[in-house]
Amino acid sequence: KTFEELGLHADLLKGIYDMGFSKPSKIQERALPLLLKDPPQNMIGQSQSGTGKTAAFVLTMLSRIDFSKNKPQALCLAPSRELARQIMSVVVAMGKFTPVQTEYAIKDHLPPDVTRITAHIIVGTPGTMFNLIRKRTLDVSDVGVFVLDEADNMLDQDGLGEQTLKVKNALPKGKPLQIILFSATFPDHVRSFAGKFAPNANKIEL
Ligand code: AMP
Repeated sequence: KTFEELGLHADLLKGIYDMGFSKPSKIQERALPLLLKDPPQNMIGQSQSGTGKTAAFVLTMLSRIDFSKNKPQALCLAPSRELARQIMSVVVAMGKFTPVQTEYAIKDHLPPDVTRITAHIIVGTPGTMFNLIRKRTLDVSDVGVFVLDEADNMLDQDGLGEQTLKVKNALPKGKPLQIILFSATFPDHVRSFAGKFAPNANKIEL
């Protein structure tokens, strides 16, 4: 399969080729047709790092943005600032030929005088993401995509799970929300929580 056959927007194809990718990786080929379906469906994807999972969920977020609205529409959570920065670099590179605007939700990043985030895609860590929502700096009323990278860490009840759940519970109910979990592993104690967190998800394993 080619990236064209996956039905991606021409501006995203330009970004993909500009990054030097010529064809989808195995996980992209399997996940993207499910991720891009309408109405949106949840996904629980298990794949090692290095397989191209970041591009799969980044292309999904970029595909679902209405660029005519300057409001947050996709949130992505990662367990560390370093990973958030890596994900953001992929968002920016793949979105190079789109009008996408991005913002970090990581500690001490936003100037204190920012009262409203107007970016489309917000990438960050769960505690800071939740604080921005609580303070209403981050308006989530138009968020339709919610991604957890390294979901095993993000859902761990002894770690970030509580903050991650707070973010999820703050998202609008009664309108479609696509929840996407990716992780290299889903240990037993995380697996059942993941299933409740992302109900009726398509499951793929690589
Ligand atoms: P990830 O698994 O998301 O950490 O990605 C691993 C590496 O594979 C990154 O350096 C990506 O730039 C690269 N990559 C992702 N998708 C493709 C692709 N379709 N073709 C070539 N390289 C890719």
